[in-house]
Formats: sequence, C-alpha cells, structure tokens
Amino acid sequence: MSNCDSCPTKENCNSKEECMIENNPNNHIKKVIAVMSGKGGVGKSTVTTLIAKSLRKKGYRVGILDADITGPSIPRLMNVSDQKALGGEFGVIPVQSPEGIDIMSLNLLVDDEERPVIWRGPIISGTVKQFWTDVFWGELDYLIIDMPPGTGDVALTVMQFIPIHGAIVVSTPHEMVSMIVAKSINMAKTMNIPILGIVENMSYITCPDCNKKIKLFEDQDLENYLHRMDVELLGELPMCPSLANASHYDDLNDPVVKGTMDTIIHTLSIK
Ligand code: ADP
Repeated sequence: MSNCDSCPTKENCNSKEECMIENNPNNHIKKVIAVMSGKGGVGKSTVTTLIAKSLRKKGYRVGILDADITGPSIPRLMNVSDQKALGGEFGVIPVQSPEGIDIMSLNLLVDDEERPVIWRGPIISGTVKQFWTDVFWGELDYLIIDMPPGTGDVALTVMQFIPIHGAIVVSTPHEMVSMIVAKSINMAKTMNIPILGIVENMSYITCPDCNKKIKLFEDQDLENYLHRMDVELLGELPMCPSLANASHYDDLNDPVVKGTMDTIIHTLSIK
C-alpha cells in the first residue's frame, strides 16, 4: 500500500513525491493497525496494550508506536518506563517489554517523563514521522499505533504518511453513538483506511456479590448507529480494577477480555 492510497486529495494531486516518506529500508512490517478514539481517557492505550499482548501471546512479532506524543502512556502500561531507547546501526532501537514487544514512545527518549511536551503541531508531527522512518523496527507481523485522540493535525499526519492497514476505534458507552466517535470513523474512511470495528470500553461493571452486569449507560440506538456507520462492534470490556491497572494485567485468559481479544485477532488476520 502506498501513502497515496490513503490520501483524500489523491485524485487532483500533481506532486505525489512530496507526500512520500520512505520507511527505514531495514523494516519489514506486515500490518500496521491504528487504535483511535474520539476523545482522550476512553482506554485507547489500554486497548492498544491488550491487543499487543494478546498478539504476542499467540506468537506474533509485535511493536507499539506511541503516536500520542503529548500523553504517552504506553511505556508505563508496558512496564518499560525505566528504560531508554538508544541509537543503533540501522536506526533508533525500540525498547523491548518483558513479553518481547518492541516499543517506541517519546517518553523513552526524554530524561524526565513528567516534563510536558510544549511543541507546536508540526514538530510533534515530525516526531511521529521519525518513529516510522528512523526507528529500526526490523521484522514485525503487527505494528500497533496508539493514535493521538481526536481528529487533529497529528492524527492526520499518521494517516497520511504511514500506510495503515486498518483502524480500531475505542469508545465508552456514553460516547458510543455520539458525533465525536462518528468524526473519528469518518476521518479514517475519508483517508481510505478501513475501520476494523469498535471496542466499547468501560462498558459495564460486574456486581461483586451476584456477578450481574450493570450498565450505567444504556446503548440506545447502538444497532442503528453501527448500521448507519457501517461498522462492527468487536466487543465490550468491563470497567474493573484489573483493567485500570493494565500494566500488571497478565491474565489475558479472563473470558471477557479473551473473547474480545480473540475477535480482534481473528478480524486482524482476515482483513
Ligand atoms: P486513553 O489512551 O484513551 O487516553 P487510557 O488507556 O490511558 O485512555 O485510560 C484512561 C484511564 O482509564 C487510565 O487510568 C486507565 O487505567 C483507565 N482505564 C482504561 N480502561 C479501563 C477499564 N476497562 N476499567 C477501568 N479503568 C480503565
């Protein structure tokens, strides 16, 4: 797939070379998957982490590109925040998690993870591009991109410059049928990036006494919405303390999480 395939203005474009960025020639990545959300705080990084760990558990070679430059939570979620990425012969070498997942995030390059990134959009976009061109990812089956929330400049850069195979949208129930989620879905569609489906995170809580599922927000019109947006619901994840602490979440055998992850992995393998 070339960068032009996902460009909304490709029909009238006279300067195709300008948009092209070459990937590092030492990188051979089979599928790039973007995990997106309409807003921050809905669990996009948590779901990115769960997908990466689940794929790795099945034996795939997996990387995570943390494109959420101003809110990079992947190093903490993946238990590598005490490590630094270093330069190598073929580019910057990602940090490897205990499970063997390659990770690149701005927080793995800076001295103080609590210092905010006070950069203008073009600098942030340039950094994300470098995570693609200047990082030695090597051979990967899947590179999962933790996208910046929303439909802004950096999200546009990622979609325009990185050949994305498909996108997974993460939402919470009260946002589920909203115009904000629709904006994300429509942005990906405009960029010719297939939507692989939606994950509803913090979908319900489970009563500790009787195990009953309690939905705080009813998914009104969800069926209609999914039909209208032409997207599939890949699964629901509960709001629970173990997922709030996904960095220590090794029990991917939890039937609910495993069910959703198996659906996602199956979808990734066939699309
Ligand atoms: P985003 O990447 O969309 O900003 P995060 O994955 O960083 O969101 O999650 C935001 C916060 O919500 C984090 O503190 C995370 O631990 C918590 N969280 C995410 N998913 C769940 C869940 N299913 N249950 C409980 N807490 C969750």
